[in-house]
Amino acid sequence: MSHQVCLLSGDGIGPEITNAVREVIAATGVEIEWIPCAAGLSSYEATGDPLPQETVDNIRRTKFALKGPLATASGTGFRSVNVALRKELQLYANYRPAKTLQGVPAPFKDVDLIVVRENTEGLYSGLEHTVVPGVVESLRVITEKGSRRIAKFAFETARSHGRKKVTCIHKANILKLSDGLFLDTCERVALDYPDIEFDQCIVDAAAMKMVMNPHQFDVLVMENLFGDILSDLASGLVGGLGVTPSGNLGEDAAVFEAVHGTAPDIAGKNLANPTALLLSGTMMLKHMGETAAAEKIEASLFRVLAEGKTLTGDMKGSASTTEFADAIIDQL
Ligand code: NAD
Repeated sequence: MSHQVCLLSGDGIGPEITNAVREVIAATGVEIEWIPCAAGLSSYEATGDPLPQETVDNIRRTKFALKGPLATASGTGFRSVNVALRKELQLYANYRPAKTLQGVPAPFKDVDLIVVRENTEGLYSGLEHTVVPGVVESLRVITEKGSRRIAKFAFETARSHGRKKVTCIHKANILKLSDGLFLDTCERVALDYPDIEFDQCIVDAAAMKMVMNPHQFDVLVMENLFGDILSDLASGLVGGLGVTPSGNLGEDAAVFEAVHGTAPDIAGKNLANPTALLLSGTMMLKHMGETAAAEKIEASLFRVLAEGKTLTGDMKGSASTTEFADAIIDQL
């Protein structure tokens, strides 16, 4: 059966790593009709719009997208495409596993965490205004509905992945109303999952505990800003952004992407590591029901990483993006 998937190649190293991922997936025999969709700086330069409506409509229709990193200019009117995509498609759950990969240099062994980040509310609601010159307010919105659906997502994820514990990360001691609501809602949802242990931790203490002993955590659930920060921290525990995948999931669509950016310093040089996007691609294949192909790719990738002979520069090797992808294909 052929699947339709929107392809947002992205900026910088995006086209190089999306090509590598497409080639590896094609080599498994899974048939995908890739629908090229404009987004990001290249789209903005060509059409004046970093996220054309046609791209959103296509993702809504095909339900799946693989997305390379997109360049976003800071502090200008150029809206963040990533934030806009999450809001328009209601991709409310950001799913970020961080698992140690043999052969990838990392500060810990055997880390296996899942960070679940609320993706549509919090400080990233886009509600900012100038109160008077020199004073700006950004609103941090937490709703019971949004908190309940992300908490349920975290518990369902724990259950379906055979996990034992969900930890709610919050700052309810200071942000008594907003994080109080988030924590209360998580506690109430936890009552429906007696098979999963529930606990909670204040965000600053959680950051310290994650770097001291990440093994004490299992599934972590949190609002948008805390999730943005702690999911990158979790990536650092397993070797960095070059190896960490992510899925942005909603009821009607799912967008899979690497968590790193466009790496302008190495763009166009065939040096980028496609591992994070490839693992995002296998996450996507599992969502489509192509689990066997996904597991085949992962087994081959893990063999190449563990052998350590064909690694890209960021992993202390000297292979190009294409040589690394070819090595994975050879091992399939
Ligand atoms: P970055 O992740 O692009 O780069 C940080 C460092 O990591 C660089 O040295 C880069 O070479 C290296 N790196 C990143 N990915 C790599 C890979 N796959 N293989 C090898 N090395 C890799 O972060 P940045 O420089 O802060 O951001 C650059 C641009 O990317 C900005 O415009 C930013 O807005 C954008 N960005 C986009 C996303 C996204 O689309 N999801 C995420 C983060 C940043």
